[in-house]
Amino acid sequence: MGRPTGFMEFERKTTTYRQPLDRIGDYNEFGEELDLEKRQEQGARCMDCGVPFCHSSYGCPIENLIPEWNDLIYQGRFRDALVRLLKTNNFPEFTGRVCPAPCETACVLGINEPAVTIKNNEAFIIDKAYEEGWMEPSPPLHRTGKTVAVVGSGPAGLSAADQLNQVGHSVIVFERDDRPGGLLMYGIPNMKLDKELVAKRIKRMEDEGVVFKCGVNVGVDRTAAQLRSFFDAVVIATGSTIPRDLAVPGRGLRGIHFAMEFLKKNTKSLLDSRLEDGKYISAKGRKVVVIGGGDTGCDCIGTSIRHGCDSVVNFELLPKPPAERTDEMPWPTFPRILKTDYGHQEAIAKFGKDPREYGILTKEFVGDANGEVSGIKTVRIFWEKDDQGRYQMREIPGSEETWEADLVLLAMGFLGPDTQLTDEFSVDMDGRGNIKAVHGSFATSVEGVFACGDCRRGQSLVVWAINEGRGAARETDRYLMGKTYLP
Ligand SMILES: Cc1cc2nc3c(=O)[nH]c(=O)nc-3n(C[C@H](O)[C@H](O)[C@H](O)COP(=O)(O)OP(=O)(O)OC[C@H]3O[C@@H](n4cnc5c(N)ncnc54)[C@H](O)[C@@H]3O)c2cc1C
Ligand code: SF4
Repeated sequence: MGRPTGFMEFERKTTTYRQPLDRIGDYNEFGEELDLEKRQEQGARCMDCGVPFCHSSYGCPIENLIPEWNDLIYQGRFRDALVRLLKTNNFPEFTGRVCPAPCETACVLGINEPAVTIKNNEAFIIDKAYEEGWMEPSPPLHRTGKTVAVVGSGPAGLSAADQLNQVGHSVIVFERDDRPGGLLMYGIPNMKLDKELVAKRIKRMEDEGVVFKCGVNVGVDRTAAQLRSFFDAVVIATGSTIPRDLAVPGRGLRGIHFAMEFLKKNTKSLLDSRLEDGKYISAKGRKVVVIGGGDTGCDCIGTSIRHGCDSVVNFELLPKPPAERTDEMPWPTFPRILKTDYGHQEAIAKFGKDPREYGILTKEFVGDANGEVSGIKTVRIFWEKDDQGRYQMREIPGSEETWEADLVLLAMGFLGPDTQLTDEFSVDMDGRGNIKAVHGSFATSVEGVFACGDCRRGQSLVVWAINEGRGAARETDRYLMGKTYLP
């Protein structure tokens, strides 16, 4: 700890965002890095705790060596900070931008002061490394002669492939989309994670020897039997891709889409043609209702506003979360408190009102004579505990409303991986519709086939996908070599 009094001397300063009304005019990232001296002060705020909760089980899922690189930032030893960071995180440029940062909500300084800016510090280290040319490809010196197929190129598949390649196995990643990256490429919008960063990372992996085969839908274009006979091991990392639907009257009307269809088409058209090919669902001039919150709901709001929608409303089934921690969510647990994210801020700036409506249930979609959605009937709800202490939803009589809507986006989460591939591989599934494999071993019921990421744990976070990809790589390496040095 280079500066014992840093946390008393310097205030928390996060990366600044461009003003909402300015940034909604484009799809560029909106974070603006602090100057170097200010960043070093943010590193100096770390107390190098005896028990650093930032990388405890409540904190960072990949056990980043946070106090070490915070101190190295303060000392200006940025390249050393990079070495420490890459020991635990294959892709800090992604987590440094999109992670909800459980490390910060577990930070000890956060008990009585604003937490250390761990996430921004992480992004600074890796951005600086790219800027300085420290991220030259570093292929393995020896090849083992073993081959591994990774199915799916989201953060789980990418981290598994990266780890396996680094220890010398020959890795081919199969991806059914036209570009690799999974939800890093086609889920999270460009303003939150610049797709050039994803492409740059993929290029580096290719230069290190990983082969990407896009446009290959495993289970359709290649059979499970082919993969199992051509490769020594298979890692399935196909994500949680079946969206939760809303089976209410009027669901068949035109103008009602799953969020991922909206977001994916937008990013593809943006990358292919700067949105000039028109191959996306436009929210321009439309009254948008997003059903479901979370990151996906927020991304739909931000994208609709960039299209130039007339209005945007976001329905949430749950009640409004509290602004502060409560007794049920004490430090260092991850608090479910009100988070006004970038899309909400933009809606407030553009329309003068928070778009979120809490405790509201969709009862019916209303259509016009052409079969297009024109409105939504809702009722307000509240939650109360039943005899067994379980929360039950109750409708409030007389609270029925009808909302105007000519574009409805369903962002209500995901139910599990597509079954075409899991059926083909004949892997056992768990009770929640995910691939059955224990966290830590990642082995499926089929020998030599491992599973990781959202297809195994259910919809989650990028940082957990990296945790799982690294773990699956370790166990695959052990299976192939009889021992492993991978963490
Ligand atoms: C809109 C949205 C926004 C999000 N925002 C955030 C955020 O801000 N922060 C955060 O931490 N998390 C966020 N998440 C969650 C995060 O993106 C996921 O938890 C993470 O990407 C899961 O990684 P994965 O590798 O398991 O799966 P995915 O990223 O889903 O990748 C799976 C890949 O497998 C491919 N695939 C599937 N089946 C086949 C097949 N049969 N053959 C070949 N390829 C196949 C898919 O095309 C896909 O590319 C968001 C999710 C969504 C939907
Ligand atoms: S908990 Fe916070 S203050 Fe303590 S070591 Fe981690 S980042 Fe630094």
